[in-house]
Amino acid sequence: MRQANCMAGEWTLGIESTAHTFSFGLVNGNGEPRPSSSDTLRPAEGGIHPREAADHHVEVSAVLLSNLLADNKLNRADIGAVSYSQGPGMGACLRTGAAAARSISTHLGVPLIGVNHCVAHIEIGREQSGCKDPILLYVSGGNTQVIARLDGRYRVLGETLDIGIGNMLDKFARNHGIPFPGGPVIEQKALEWLDKNPNASLAGLELPYAVHGMDLAFSGLMSAANRLVKEGKSFEAVCWSLQEHAFAACIEVAERALAHTGKTEILLGGGVACNQRLRNMSELMCKERDASSHCPPRMYCIDNGTMIARLGWLEIKNGRTTSLMDSGIDQEMRTDQTPISWA
Ligand code: AMP
Ligand code: MG
Repeated sequence: MRQANCMAGEWTLGIESTAHTFSFGLVNGNGEPRPSSSDTLRPAEGGIHPREAADHHVEVSAVLLSNLLADNKLNRADIGAVSYSQGPGMGACLRTGAAAARSISTHLGVPLIGVNHCVAHIEIGREQSGCKDPILLYVSGGNTQVIARLDGRYRVLGETLDIGIGNMLDKFARNHGIPFPGGPVIEQKALEWLDKNPNASLAGLELPYAVHGMDLAFSGLMSAANRLVKEGKSFEAVCWSLQEHAFAACIEVAERALAHTGKTEILLGGGVACNQRLRNMSELMCKERDASSHCPPRMYCIDNGTMIARLGWLEIKNGRTTSLMDSGIDQEMRTDQTPISWA
């Protein structure tokens, strides 16, 4: 095995595999990101089965890595460290990324670093948007959390008590014949409704509004939305109402987090942060409070290897690496489990 750091390249390779997406990404020696090489499993019907997703990940990994290196005119010797999502996520999926990371780092003789997927969403958002000390509204398929940094950790101030907001959107869409990922289609349908009804009203389209203190809940909202469609309400209208209710609940908790902590920045992250209506709501709320709303480009909102590379680079710069013995995955890893030692 080659000596670590002896001839190693300057690039950190990041591997993402928590759920439906397998992705490789890179940052250079200064931590500057390059777009990822990714592939997402999109089952023709049904949700994501962890074993099927894991099989998908193994199948696509070699081609994705070659493409990433070719696109960046790099070869394997340019890789100086390997970072991977150690958790949270689906066990079978996480294991494929961890196995790939272990074998690449061992083969190249370069350091290995296992990182927290949720913290990676935060750090790529900070890097991209330049915001310093935000409240993070992390809205993805499996997670919905309002997070703030305090005493060297990202603390969860509020979160969903049942399913993630993205899962809720995907399940509602699936109930009406739309395959994964349903979120972007719901956004489109809502826009079509607004196009046809510029003065659209929520009258007759009311849904439960589940804010519990600083926490949220989405499964009751989804059942009620399904009921409205069954009762004969227009599908486009219900998509619009569903977005209005679900996003307003998230923005309300984020606003309360700003008020309680005295912070003045919101950072959106996770796949649902691709949604323009959510971005607009956040901007409006921030404007009213003299705060600012930030969101990374869409390619860094969805799950991507580049954010994993960026966090791995930060961790290694601050003296942490992961030994093979400690490189096992942690499906239940919490956002506030990871010490944050960097500025
Ligand atoms: P992630 O788990 O962070 O990779 O994000 C995937 C989730 O983001 C899925 O639930 C998607 O339906 C959701 N998503 C992606 N784009 C949008 C969008 N434009 N509007 C709402 N949800 C979206
Ligand atoms: Mg994610």
